[in-house]
This record gives sequence, structure tokens and C-alpha cells, in this order.
Amino acid sequence: MATITFLGGTDTVTGSKFLLGAGGESVLVDCGLFQGPREMRQLNWEDPAFAGSLPDQVLITHAHIDHSGYLPRLAAHQGYAAPVRATAATVDLLGVMLPDSARLQEETAEYANKKGYSRHRPALPLYTEADAERALRLLQPAPYHEWFPVPGGRARLSRAGHILGSAHVVVETEGRRLVFSGDVGRWNIPVIEDPEPPTGAHLLLLEATYGGRSHPADVDPDTVLAGTVNRVAERGGVMVVPAFSVGRSQEILFRLRQLEEKGRVPRLPVFLDSPMSIEATELYRRHAEEHDLEMRALEEVGISPFRPARLQLARTVEESKAINHVEPPAIVLSASGMANGGRVVHHLKRRLPYSQNLVAFVGYQAEGTLGRSLVDGATRVHIHGDEVEVRAEVVMLDVFSAHADQNELLRWVGEAAPERIALVHGEDEGRQALAAALAGSFGGQVLLPRRGDTLEV
Ligand code: ZN
Repeated sequence: MATITFLGGTDTVTGSKFLLGAGGESVLVDCGLFQGPREMRQLNWEDPAFAGSLPDQVLITHAHIDHSGYLPRLAAHQGYAAPVRATAATVDLLGVMLPDSARLQEETAEYANKKGYSRHRPALPLYTEADAERALRLLQPAPYHEWFPVPGGRARLSRAGHILGSAHVVVETEGRRLVFSGDVGRWNIPVIEDPEPPTGAHLLLLEATYGGRSHPADVDPDTVLAGTVNRVAERGGVMVVPAFSVGRSQEILFRLRQLEEKGRVPRLPVFLDSPMSIEATELYRRHAEEHDLEMRALEEVGISPFRPARLQLARTVEESKAINHVEPPAIVLSASGMANGGRVVHHLKRRLPYSQNLVAFVGYQAEGTLGRSLVDGATRVHIHGDEVEVRAEVVMLDVFSAHADQNELLRWVGEAAPERIALVHGEDEGRQALAAALAGSFGGQVLLPRRGDTLEV
């Protein structure tokens, strides 16, 4: 009898880890880091309950750290040395993201030691860049749609339409078929292909990030973006976009170039100020197997889809600082997406005090981040120990979400026709709302597992 144990990413959107056991062997699907409040991050220091022995193989749905960021710890501290399989694009993205995550862990530990606020002396990083490199050596790319052997059965990856390389995982073991949704993306977003249906699952592990929410209907992302850019251009301001390096940055660049071409926005200087965003954009361009028809058509006629006319890349710190003196109007895209660190914080400090400027958030803003305070309407914020007045316009463009909303999740499940569904990767409110919505259309059993639960498949 196969079993599934929920080790993380159950009633929270981070720390995704699902252990499938069959015949004394096990496969771990996703190996995510817990993120957010301190109690949650603390869980990263506990070894996951693998029932005695390490997994025999790991499969990763996509490169986001909440699905992959525990890999260095698993490899370096727990001694995991078997293969880790994911799509080719995910393997390349992890090559950028895991070392970056490690540097962040090292900086956090260093800072704690300098300030002396850690309970542990000296404070240690959860993992180092060398640990990340060790994890990267275990990665093996798997093509979409082809079965490959896993301990106790076989597995296959299908497109999830969420970010470059994102997949849902199908595993067959002991005559049962399980589908792990990963993060379900959206239909008709630029560059990457749409989500594919997961057919005929006995058990579907379904993410519920936006289980209780609907994205604004009848809102065209291009119209929203054009309106925002034109407003800033007219009043001679600078538009700062705190954007996640993978996904949102590329979508904004893609849409800006198109809007310029159609004459819907002026050709402003656009700065991409984040080495990781620059690398990720290159991977988005290079992985042709991920591209949808529109993207392929652009490439065929020699257009660079991510290049607005006056794009400038800022790799070095000096190039980043030079943006402080740019003649407005201009657009600055910089990480991190929640403004809780990274270069964008410097741009915010510089631009927030002036009313002609605009800050456009394009993704979820977690509690306790600078982004959340600004979106909630703070008139004063503290940045690097200084008080900063907020006179710039602050907008939330949630039309750019990379997650399926409730209707899109129902659509995806409708194509899947599973026997049973376990809702994961969602706060309880979202999971319950989605469970209620599923009750209307889905006849089978819906489960809301907790961390540590084991289920017979
Ligand atoms: Zn994701």
C-alpha cells in the first residue's frame, strides 16, 4: 500500500514537501523552504520526518524557493545524494536561484552576528553557497511528457503554466496514479504555454493559494499597465516596479515592448536593475521548448521580446546607483518583489518622497514586508534606519498574478476528473473556500491535510 506524508506546504503556502512511500522506497515531491514569519522559518531547522531513511529520489515542480529552497540543506546537512529531477528550464533557473538563496541565508546570519540578536552564537546560515552548489550537482533534467523510472514506479512532468519550467508531476505506483499540481498557472499569459490538464488521477494534490479569491474579471493587463505608465510619463515621474526576478519581471518587459510598438505608451528609459532578473530573462529567452506561439512568432522575425526600445541593464552596484540621477520620466524594475530587501529598497528611498513618482507592486505582499506597509497606505516608512515620507502614488497591479484563481483551479480540476483531492499550499481560509466551491462540481472526497499527516493512496 502506497502512502503519502505531508511534510510541508499544507495549511501554508511555503515549505512544500510531499513524501510518497511504496514498497519500502520513497520519492519526495518538492523540497521547499518555509518562508514568512519567524515560527515558520524556524521549521527549516528541524529535519523533515522521512520515516528513518532519506528519500530515494526527489522531483521538483518548479524553481520557486518555497518548492525548491530546502534542497541545499537536504544535500549538505542530511547527506542526500540521489538524483533530483525537474524540467530543463527549472534546472537552469535553480542554478541562479539556489546560490542566491544561500547568499541571503549567509547575509542574514552575518547580520545577526553583527547585531548580536541571535539566540545562537555564532548564528549559522541555514546553508551556504557551497551547499547550494552541492545540491545543483544532483539535478538531472527530464523532458516534458516522457515517463521516467522512479523508485516504486514511474513519473512524468506536464506543463503548469506558472513560471518558466513549471510542471505538475504525475506518479504511478502500485497501480495508482497521483498528480502533484505544484503551482497552477494561468491561461493566456505571455511567453509560456498554458497549463495542461492532469488526466485520470486517483489522488490529486491541489494547490489552493488563491482558493478563495477571484482575479479581477474583465481587466486587461495591457490596459492597466499602459494607463499606469502614461500617468507617470505625463507628470514627469519615475515608476518603480518591485518585481520578483522570475516571472513578473519578464512579463512586464514583454508587455512594455508590445505597448511601445503599438504606440500605446511612450518609449521611456527602462532599467532592469537586478543581476538575477537579468539572468532569468536570458533563460526565459533561451528555453524555446517553453515558448507559446506568440513568443515563437516574435523570435522568428528577429524581435527581442523582452527589450523595450530604451532598455538598460544594471548589473553592477555602480550602474544601479547611477539610476538615482536619471532624467525622468523613466521606469525602474528591481527586486525584491515585496521590497523586503534588495536594490529596490534604495530606489524606494529615493523616489517615495515625491508625488510625481509611482510605485507599482505586481505580486502578493506578505505581512510584515515594506511592500505590505506601502500597499496598506503607510504615509511614513522606515528605510535603512531613516524615516521616509510617502508622497509617491502606490498602486497594486494584482492583474499580474501567476497563480490560478478559484475559477481557474476549478477549470483545471474539471479537466482532470480525479477520484480524490487533497488541498495543499493554502491558508485554511483559501482551502475551505476552495473545498466549498469544489463541492458544487466535484463528486469525490476533498481532504484538508495537516503537516505530518499520512494518507493511504
Ligand atoms: Zn510558484
